[in-house]
Amino acid sequence: MHEYALMENVIATIMVELKSSGEEVQAGRPLTVTLKVGALEMHSEAASRQAFEVLTKGTALEGALLNLIILPVSVDCSKCGFQGPLPMGAVDPHDALPLAECPQCGALTPVQGGRGVESIEVKWD
Ligand SMILES: [Zn+2]
Repeated sequence: MHEYALMENVIATIMVELKSSGEEVQAGRPLTVTLKVGALEMHSEAASRQAFEVLTKGTALEGALLNLIILPVSVDCSKCGFQGPLPMGAVDPHDALPLAECPQCGALTPVQGGRGVESIEVKWD
């Protein structure tokens, strides 16, 4: 249920922002939520979208379009010096301290990034 907890936080943050912005929220007004989130928070994109849909039901965000931007994890290999992003699914998100094989030399390297929500943007069309 990781996705639900994540989306609950995201939606709570948006609600606070909407209130403080003084923006008038009208039901049915087309809204796009752009969420930039680390790949390790997204165990399943489908589950996240479903959680968003369920959790926004009956709120000002109902029917909002969710634009998910997933930030990849990257490696910084101490053996060969390779630095770069890893493809989705290269790292098990359930791992607390994930390691990945360096795409260049195959050494096991701790991954960087991919955690947390980087930004949440709300836009009316
Ligand atoms: Zn390497």
